[in-house]
Amino acid sequence: MQLPDQPVLRDIVLLGGGHSHVGVLRRFGMHPLPGVRLTVICRDTHTPYSGMLPGYIAGHYSYDEVHIDLSRLARFAGARLFRDEALGVDRDAGKVLCRNRPPVPYDYLSINIGSTPQMADVAGATEYAVPVKPINGFNTRWLQLLERVRKHAGATRIAVVGGGAGGVELTLAMQYRLRNELRALGRNPQELSFHLLTSDPVILPTHNATVRRAFERVLAERGVTLHCSAEVNKVRATRQQTAGGESVDADLSVCVTRDGGAPWLRDTGLALDADGFIQVKDTLQTVTDPRVFAAGDIASMINHPREKAGVFAVRQGPPLAENLRRAVEGKALRPYRPQSKWLALISTGDQYAVASRGALGFQGAWVWRWKDWIDRRFMLKFDRLPVMETGSATTAPSPVKLDREEAAQAISAVAMRCGGCGAKVGATVLSRALGALHPVERDDVLIGLHAPDDAAVVRVPPGKAMVHTVDFFRAFIDDPYIFGKVAANHALGDIYAMGAEAQSATAIVTVPAGLEAKVEDVLFQMMSGAIEVLNEANCALVGGHTGESRELALGFAVNGLVDEDMASVMRKSGMRPGDALILTKPIGTGTLFAAHALLEARGRWIDAALISMCQSNRLGAQCLREHGATACTDLTGFGLLGHLVEMTRPSGVDAELDLAALPVLEGAEETSAAGILSSLQPANVRLRRALRNQQEALGHPRYPLIFDPQTAGGLLASIPQERAEACVKALRALGYEQAAVIGRVLTQGEALEPIVLKFS
Ligand SMILES: Cc1cc2nc3c(=O)[nH]c(=O)nc-3n(C[C@H](O)[C@H](O)[C@H](O)COP(=O)(O)OP(=O)(O)OC[C@H]3O[C@@H](n4cnc5c(N)ncnc54)[C@H](O)[C@@H]3O)c2cc1C
Repeated sequence: MQLPDQPVLRDIVLLGGGHSHVGVLRRFGMHPLPGVRLTVICRDTHTPYSGMLPGYIAGHYSYDEVHIDLSRLARFAGARLFRDEALGVDRDAGKVLCRNRPPVPYDYLSINIGSTPQMADVAGATEYAVPVKPINGFNTRWLQLLERVRKHAGATRIAVVGGGAGGVELTLAMQYRLRNELRALGRNPQELSFHLLTSDPVILPTHNATVRRAFERVLAERGVTLHCSAEVNKVRATRQQTAGGESVDADLSVCVTRDGGAPWLRDTGLALDADGFIQVKDTLQTVTDPRVFAAGDIASMINHPREKAGVFAVRQGPPLAENLRRAVEGKALRPYRPQSKWLALISTGDQYAVASRGALGFQGAWVWRWKDWIDRRFMLKFDRLPVMETGSATTAPSPVKLDREEAAQAISAVAMRCGGCGAKVGATVLSRALGALHPVERDDVLIGLHAPDDAAVVRVPPGKAMVHTVDFFRAFIDDPYIFGKVAANHALGDIYAMGAEAQSATAIVTVPAGLEAKVEDVLFQMMSGAIEVLNEANCALVGGHTGESRELALGFAVNGLVDEDMASVMRKSGMRPGDALILTKPIGTGTLFAAHALLEARGRWIDAALISMCQSNRLGAQCLREHGATACTDLTGFGLLGHLVEMTRPSGVDAELDLAALPVLEGAEETSAAGILSSLQPANVRLRRALRNQQEALGHPRYPLIFDPQTAGGLLASIPQERAEACVKALRALGYEQAAVIGRVLTQGEALEPIVLKFS
């Protein structure tokens, strides 16, 4: 995370997490540039390494062995990872337009989004064929195919369209794996039939004759039917048709054909080549816009056209990093010339490979071992990230080239603040950032943000009583938009736990000082996320206060409404012996984000935790109430045990907590077992004195998690036993997929400790 001791002066946005950008991130991680903030926008958190994909399909590698974890890598590089899909670039505004979040501003933009299958001109291909890209989409279909072949007795016919290295390798890898699956099930591998179709007269047209012959032989030996000069022009659910009138029956058609650029690039105004790839100069800058760079498959080097291959994308990483750095420093950029001959190591699925370079071609099991060694060594660079010295990035002077106005703002951002203004953020920055947001309007808000005054005025409707709560915490992730969502959701949790309806909220924000435009954008991104959540809750943001601080932080004072007679209020104190304990969401956010900070968490664990944290408790609370909840609270900083004790004590009951039944976020057991715990955990662990059988539980993998502090956690409620099963079913149908009965309420006994742990 970029610390405010060094304000953000320039934003480099890396669009796409391809092979070039992973290299850029690693380089910036090892040699940070003070004042420069990197942001990666990528639709995948785990980005595939193309060289090992066929080995993954063949079953030689696991998913994690062939994917680079962008979440860890970005964290290492001090970069923000925005998991989203770009849909366009507004070059006039200098912003990337995304599917699910506000536009992301850039000073320099680099595009490394790979290529997109061009299937639109083949009738039926979009509906019936499976494109190999995006790879994650293909992986889902591949796993479905594996399942189908395992379960479906009888013949399965697979057709692969595309006779380049990708198509040939994929055919052989799929065949190898599927045959092995059938053998393992005691079935006949001949139930599978494979067809490879190519519009060219030969396979591997860009490789030499030795390599071609080697693959023709392997394909023939393996019984793959080869169709050359067979241009597929129609795809149906179970059949492919070629321009020559041939038809091939297939239960699955996979397309590894010629690719082009993403269609949305046409609206960017960037010069594209005939296939829609972005034209770039030797500096990897686009020919159209010196602030926009491109690399990998999506880039078409006008002076050095090359085949589309991951090896070129990888090699462009270092010169791209160097030129992005030079661009922000205002230095002359360096030209880059890709190699004209390159080594391709193409595998045959069965741990055997053929090497191809210019006119050279050789093969063997040793070539596969060599390829495996090269690929694993490459991946190791992104798995074992070097431990960097801290502090260097924030104390060095920034070499970024600024104009006069920017330099003045930068000096004032780092200068000692007088504090006489209460460290408030400038009114124009605030009003511009908040002016673009649209909080819901409610009739009971008499004075709010729509007509701002010194304070908001809200009416308590007749027959209602008001519920007040406040929460505030600092950003634990680098994405201000998602942080805004989580913070608002967390604050609303208390309202829902009380069985109340949210009415209005005031925000308290602290934001690091910096260039006005950067501060404004962080505020805008964060409040956009928050307002989306508040609006969905029909909760009007009526005011707030924003100040400067070292860290980004956000909190809300929220008002809710309940019926004056309190009939619908869910209190902590209503638990009754015999009730079932229900938890609506999984636990584990504390340990997972502690691990994230240490680069010890997998990206998909963090993704899943954030999805859970963004899930509102509104419907859950409603469901619990409808099922007769006798008591309820939301899980936050005190952890499961702390909140449970807060309920048993005023209720005058004991409780049994079933560790085996606890819903837990993926990865949380691993990170807590590794001893990675939230800094709040030690305070929570003091409550172990509330456990009757603590000694027995010490070695249990879930034991530490009952102390784990939660952010935007689920609801913990007691429900009459006879309604518990129906309640859990209803909660799951509402999207709380891991909702579970986690224990039961007991009559208060003689023991001083109210909680008994169960291990079944
Ligand atoms: C089966 C197969 C095997 C192959 N084997 C080899 C090989 O052994 N050696 C070799 O050199 N090449 C190989 N290739 C070719 C190789 O896959 C590509 O050349 C390489 O992936 C290109 O890398 P890239 O960095 O340009 O893009 P990619 O690797 O495609 O990465 C692009 C990234 O950007 C993201 N992205 C895309 N669009 C958006 C968007 N709009 N918004 C946000 N994120 C986006 C994607 O999710 C992805 O993470 C193979 C190809 C196939 C199909």
